[in-house]
Amino acid sequence: MQQYNPVTPKILTELKAIVGEKYAFDDPDKLETYSRDETPDSKYAHQPEVVVLPGTTEEVAHVVKLANRERISIVPRGAGTGLACGAVPVTGGIVLSLERFDRIIEVNPEAMYMVVQAGVRTDEVQKAAKAAGMFYAGDPCSGDSCFIGGNLATNAGGNRAVKYGTTRHQVYEFEMVTPLGDIVHLGSRLNKNTSGYCLEQLVMGSEGTLGIITQATLKLKPLPAHVIDLLAVFPDVATAIAIVGHMLRAGLTPTCVEFMDNATVQSVERFLQEKLPNSDIGHYVIIQMEAESEEDLENKTVALDDLCSAHGAISVLVADSQKIWKARKAFTEATRVESAVQSFEDVVVPVNRIPEAAEACNRIAAKVGLTLRMVSHAGDGNIHITLFRGDLPETEWDRRLGSFQEELYEVVYRMGGRLSGEHGIGYKRKDLMQRFTDPVELDMMRRIKNALDPNLILNPGKIFDVE
Ligand SMILES: Cc1cc2nc3c(=O)[nH]c(=O)nc-3n(C[C@H](O)[C@H](O)[C@H](O)COP(=O)(O)OP(=O)(O)OC[C@H]3O[C@@H](n4cnc5c(N)ncnc54)[C@H](O)[C@@H]3O)c2cc1C
Repeated sequence: MQQYNPVTPKILTELKAIVGEKYAFDDPDKLETYSRDETPDSKYAHQPEVVVLPGTTEEVAHVVKLANRERISIVPRGAGTGLACGAVPVTGGIVLSLERFDRIIEVNPEAMYMVVQAGVRTDEVQKAAKAAGMFYAGDPCSGDSCFIGGNLATNAGGNRAVKYGTTRHQVYEFEMVTPLGDIVHLGSRLNKNTSGYCLEQLVMGSEGTLGIITQATLKLKPLPAHVIDLLAVFPDVATAIAIVGHMLRAGLTPTCVEFMDNATVQSVERFLQEKLPNSDIGHYVIIQMEAESEEDLENKTVALDDLCSAHGAISVLVADSQKIWKARKAFTEATRVESAVQSFEDVVVPVNRIPEAAEACNRIAAKVGLTLRMVSHAGDGNIHITLFRGDLPETEWDRRLGSFQEELYEVVYRMGGRLSGEHGIGYKRKDLMQRFTDPVELDMMRRIKNALDPNLILNPGKIFDVE
């Protein structure tokens, strides 16, 4: 990886002059927080040399220009909830946190959009939309902690992507600072636009390697009139996951289809100390449906109940929404109690191949001798696997994890799948990206990175190495 210059005391003074004395610091105890994300393995941590908290887009641009002039690396950071080490400063340098960009600028229910700064928490976006009688459809499970700018940068998915798509489908336009320090607005508040390259879609999902997003105009939708959550419980993983295909082929259009395997259900039950239905044997599929009227809701509920029962469900219940979503969202914390060191995999396959992919995950984990927990945004073909290190010695853990990944990704790519459905490549999956991506495709990505960031100062060492 390319070498960068250190942040000298003189440069720290200059950074303080740009963002304000208290918003640029290098105290080691404060830097620690910015050395990692939510990846539960401390081997990925890297301390920055300095953290800056700019308050305006102009300040961000100034800091980026300085970083170019001095050849210092700079890593944009949202809330640090990422699971791919995208916000980890692997070359030291500057971490630029967007935490002061916390204002909701405008909610316009009439024209169905809202304008927010990049450091607004996703659930605050949802709440502000709802308070105006509208609906923001982005819904990552980390919504109570992640920032909307981080969602754009990672193209976050989440629970409602089955019906509404991922974050990139919720965005009209955004403001960003380019890797050279220019301020630009990408996208437009238009429903169609064929005026040149679609740069906003290139930047969304680029994990902070092509620009620093400071503000976004998001799409709003009318609030659904009726929403229901059903819990279908199945006796085995294959039958549970196969329900996705049955549902889609039957023309039912769920908002969410989430899977939790039985071991995860039991972990969550222990963690929350709340009894969950059929937790002794059941694998869960949580299905959310929206309806225009009570009659429509009743018809859809009956159709789903019939479909799940006909395809092997042990029970189909109208779920206590608050309780079931709390259980679904608690899985990361619940499984962390079982093993402090874990590896999260985030594979995605075509939706019709998801039963095979789930079977492969379990088969390969058993073969290499690793314990796993599985949840899935099943309606999107996206499987989250949590592998436990437990008390394995580090070398043995690395060996087994390497074997698991090697075999699983071979299978996933043969199915037409990819390494990550929503968490991204970051630093953690960079080697796998190199190994599994078409070299021509990777070369195109490198050329884009080189063209937009000629000094390679913005978030180096992420997604792929450039040299
Ligand atoms: C419990 C839990 C549940 C989760 N559930 C989901 C889920 O359902 N769906 C999902 O997609 N993800 C999920 N995640 C992962 C994570 O929350 C998302 O990737 C989220 O979008 C990251 O936002 P953040 O603000 O925390 O970004 P960070 O972690 O700070 O950064 C993530 C990446 O984005 C870049 N970045 C951040 N902000 C900006 C910006 N303003 N401009 C440019 N680049 C920027 C960083 O450099 C980094 O590469 C979950 C994580 C946890 C811990």
